[in-house]
Amino acid sequence: MNNNNLKLKMGLECHQQLSTTKLFCRCNTTLQEKNEEIQIKRKQRAVSGGTGKKDVAALFEEQKDRTFIYHGFEDEYCLVCLDEEPIHNINKRALETALTLAKLLNLKIPKELKVMRKIISDGSVTSAFQRTLIIGTESKNSFIKTSQGKVKVNQLSLEEDACKKIKSEGNHVHYSLSRLGIPLLELTTNPDIKTPEQAKETAEIIGMMLRSFETTRRGIGSIRQDINLSIKNGARVELKGFQNLRQMPQVIKKEIERQLYLIKENKKIKEEVRRVKSDNTTEFLRPLSGSARFYPETDAVNININKKLLSKIKIPELIEEKSLKLEKEFSLPMELAKGIIENKINLHELAKKYPRISPKFIAQIIIEMPKELKARFNLNYDFKQHDFEKILKLTNKNNLQKEAVLDILAKIAGNKKINIDDYKQISFEKIEQEIKLILEKQPNITENAIMGIIMKKSSGKINPKDVFELIKKII
Ligand SMILES: [Zn+2]
Repeated sequence: MNNNNLKLKMGLECHQQLSTTKLFCRCNTTLQEKNEEIQIKRKQRAVSGGTGKKDVAALFEEQKDRTFIYHGFEDEYCLVCLDEEPIHNINKRALETALTLAKLLNLKIPKELKVMRKIISDGSVTSAFQRTLIIGTESKNSFIKTSQGKVKVNQLSLEEDACKKIKSEGNHVHYSLSRLGIPLLELTTNPDIKTPEQAKETAEIIGMMLRSFETTRRGIGSIRQDINLSIKNGARVELKGFQNLRQMPQVIKKEIERQLYLIKENKKIKEEVRRVKSDNTTEFLRPLSGSARFYPETDAVNININKKLLSKIKIPELIEEKSLKLEKEFSLPMELAKGIIENKINLHELAKKYPRISPKFIAQIIIEMPKELKARFNLNYDFKQHDFEKILKLTNKNNLQKEAVLDILAKIAGNKKINIDDYKQISFEKIEQEIKLILEKQPNITENAIMGIIMKKSSGKINPKDVFELIKKII
């Protein structure tokens, strides 16, 4: 595939939820969805946008004549969420986060922020419009630097997230109100991305920047990336719902192949939104929205942004920068350093608390070993802080080696009894005796063979490096 002939152009759209309270009410954003308290049934009709024309996407939804059922869970919905009460003041911390990100990205921040309404007609918003504020627009320097060139960020908005769909039954669609109104940063780039790999890299850098803020939500669904894509003689499509960034290049390649095939067959390609599936293919979701979508929010006042307010904003140290420092200080591999920072682990404190374990080994236990257990034994267990404290304490006291730590972690995950005597390190004298015994029986045995015998018997109870040194010494 030659990207020059294809005229492949891609833009990225990132949505990041914030962990403050909701944007225009004080409901919490933990998305527990426990203790259902209400169900409310509604119908919606398409409303006309600022231009007076009905939105294409709105009409498409109206044709379906659906009934929406909204589920409200304890502490996660209120009258504002139900569109029964005017909105409250904007959440200050969410606004501050958005302004800080705009500053970090060198975007132009307007002197006055206006709350606008964006029409949403699939029922996922109770009021049929989503509130949004443009926080920053592109400037000469508002770009992301990737290894394949610059990608310009053209806009940052702060908006309300929509409801999450629970299920569809015939023409009844069920939505949870818990996600509705969660502050959402929406960041879009120009179509400067030229290769599938660059798309992934851009998304990774933006994700790293976003996670550097204290107020960003973590976990599944807290960040969502869409790709806008077009090729020569094809049509613009939006790819939505990537499960992870690893699959992004493959999904893009498959979409290009799909369009190339349709072009070859002389078939018309429609502009549409396509949903990404787990096998990296995509399927039709809905037509691409038209542009008649914004009008002013009458329940909110404009927000003045003065220079004094902007000068007070401090840009946080990015994960990338923090990781570099940690990498140097403790001689950690970069990936390990990043893992420590991303997971907000205080390695300094742990290194002090468990002085007999090297900081690198502490980092490996917390960051790498759960992944290794998953890869090797298909063990899916969410290790908590107290689990790590337990294993670090045991390791510090008993000088445990990697295999022993892995074995104990597996036992913690399986809620099995741990007998520390199974892992107690064998003394050097005992190992020396064993080596001598083996040599008496088999005088011509190789060093590696001795090593094999000892490790088979005592794996997890002795460091292989120490065994090797003992063998060298005796032979
Ligand atoms: Zn609410």
